[in-house]
Amino acid sequence: KRVVELLSGYSLSEFAEKASVNLKDVRMLASDLLKYRRSAIVYAGDKLPMDVHIAVNLLNEVIEGTNLYRTDQSTVTNYQLSNEEDWESLISDMDSGRVGVVIHFDSNPVYHLPQGYKYASALKKVETVVTLAQSHTETTQMSNWVLPINHDLESWNDYKTRTGFFSMQQPVIYPLYSTRQKEAVLLVWIDQDTKKFNEDLYHNYLMDRWQNEIYKKLNLAVDFKTFWYSALHDGVVFVDELVSSIPSYKIDAFYNIPKPPRTNGYTLILSQSYVAGDGRFSNNGWLQELPHPVTKVVWDNYVAMSQRTAGTLRVNSNDVIKLSANGREVKLPVLIQPGMADDTVMVELGYGRTNTGTVADEVGVNANVLMNSFKSPSRWIVSNVLLEPTGESYQLVTTMEHHSLDNVLLNEMPFNRGIIREGTLHEYEKNPDFIRKEREGDRPKSIYKKFEYTGIKWAMAIDLNKCTGCSICVISCNAENNIPVVGKDQVSVGREMQWLRIDRYYSGSPDLPRVSLQPMLCQQCDNAPCENVCPVAATTHSPDGLNMMVYNRCVGTRYCSNNCPYKVRRFNFFNFRDHFESGYYNQQPVDMMYNPEVTVRSRGVMEKCTFCIQRIIEAKQEAIQEGRQLKGNDVKTACQQACPAEAITFGDMNDPESEVSKEREHPLGYYVLESLDTVPNVTYKAKLRNT
Ligand code: SF4
Ligand code: SF4
Repeated sequence: KRVVELLSGYSLSEFAEKASVNLKDVRMLASDLLKYRRSAIVYAGDKLPMDVHIAVNLLNEVIEGTNLYRTDQSTVTNYQLSNEEDWESLISDMDSGRVGVVIHFDSNPVYHLPQGYKYASALKKVETVVTLAQSHTETTQMSNWVLPINHDLESWNDYKTRTGFFSMQQPVIYPLYSTRQKEAVLLVWIDQDTKKFNEDLYHNYLMDRWQNEIYKKLNLAVDFKTFWYSALHDGVVFVDELVSSIPSYKIDAFYNIPKPPRTNGYTLILSQSYVAGDGRFSNNGWLQELPHPVTKVVWDNYVAMSQRTAGTLRVNSNDVIKLSANGREVKLPVLIQPGMADDTVMVELGYGRTNTGTVADEVGVNANVLMNSFKSPSRWIVSNVLLEPTGESYQLVTTMEHHSLDNVLLNEMPFNRGIIREGTLHEYEKNPDFIRKEREGDRPKSIYKKFEYTGIKWAMAIDLNKCTGCSICVISCNAENNIPVVGKDQVSVGREMQWLRIDRYYSGSPDLPRVSLQPMLCQQCDNAPCENVCPVAATTHSPDGLNMMVYNRCVGTRYCSNNCPYKVRRFNFFNFRDHFESGYYNQQPVDMMYNPEVTVRSRGVMEKCTFCIQRIIEAKQEAIQEGRQLKGNDVKTACQQACPAEAITFGDMNDPESEVSKEREHPLGYYVLESLDTVPNVTYKAKLRNT
């Protein structure tokens, strides 16, 4: 009764209006939650303040979603995180000269702490600053001693992520440089015995711990060595453990939520960068050049805002505005982002690094300075932000068109041209062949004679219901095929080199856009338009259905790229690999990342997705060595292997039992731009939506 009383002052329609969401959608969501009570759960994002989590947990109690909690398992924290009082007292001690030594253990507080703490100025008053770090950072720059430590891929470690669940990390490579495992450094210091150090110190320490704390609990019939190697092989060990206490909901917590304060001005949401995280990955060129899955911006952060908010401020995309909050300010370019709530703006963190490396330094702006202190309800949501246009401008670079929603032709283009095909679940249940029906009208009568492929014919299928647009496949393709990073300037003139891209289309209105995502790579067409126009036959067809590139023959006319309707061919305008940016790619250790199985391409040559031909050749060789026929499922492409959603299927389309054949024959399967009669060997499975 008291909850109902408390909520009586709120109305759903007022909420919908204030939050710029459709009232009908909110009502539908509420009725869905009631309909699926006991099997639905609401999750509050980790940036939201504790009060919101308390309210959401009550909602979960009401819909009985809490019965879904895994009460037999709970997240384990083995160490106490510092609280704000710890930080404040440390910084005040440092500031007043009462701290002689500070040790940073693989952390970068000079960059990451909210600027209100004035950590950097307090650190200047400490006599000895030691930093253990994997690379140069803002904190190493202020340290007297910098101890280079192993990269994570060179390190041993173990983790306990939840009750009874132990996992293990083992190095994949011997340390490349003269570095040490950071935990081993601590062990030496703890024992105050420098002679104790050896390369296996932490490895042996881990083995001892596992022998005494895990192996003994399991009462196994095998000896410890056998157990250890099988644990390393599996990567995870389960131990029967009781959860110490199962939390229950206390309604008083809800009653005690204070009324939210009235806010004026704009609300700023700070979020980790999709590519650079909190900044620790910002020195990685593959990631900086990976288009953001939604905005498609590369190499920058920006203030994302709705069209209406931009109109109120009289700014447009690429205009620079000043954001002021908590007595501090930053200047950033604007990006008008369909779907943003009015009066709320969003900025990604992880940019504006200094002293970090060739790639990261001075890319974007450091927005950490606007972060709230630990004492605020949320460090990431900043209220009462002042936004002021500066009259300056700054060019953001995106890999897709801006403003397509303003253009009626572009808005519906992907649907009208059969690039994106979608439907609703209801539509599919009523008529599973509705996509096939749509396709019929698009199939032209071919002027080409059909070529018979008698052996394996390679094909790929991409399920758009599974694809989340995460873009991991793009990075995987970069790594597998030695695809160079070309930099912001080159991307701005359309010269990015990624063989696989994730296309993003908006439809609907700028307030409530519908987003459609589509991984796009060479479609390996049977009737490839690129092959017909090459004057030197540098791109031809293989008997197993591949559209191939003979790099040595290519003279760089770019006719093929011009004639490709999917725009998936990439031209080497420079010798990106060894001449571009003072031969960055030939520097150590960057040169070590090359895949030696892939052919080198040079300036003036066209390239594109090969269906990972080097993997096909390797599988062929293995089959020959083993004296057997090559099978379609002997090969996994790099993008397929990396896709966490398993949206990509690859194999032999001439084998009716193969997964890829089944996907191709699925009623939802379609080719992009089918009306052009290119007969692609990449099939897309149309997306089904709820509404
Ligand atoms: S099949 Fe291979 S080359 Fe083609 S997009 Fe996937 S990873 Fe890149
Ligand atoms: S990795 Fe998979 S889910 Fe992610 S964008 Fe690529 S195809 Fe989609």
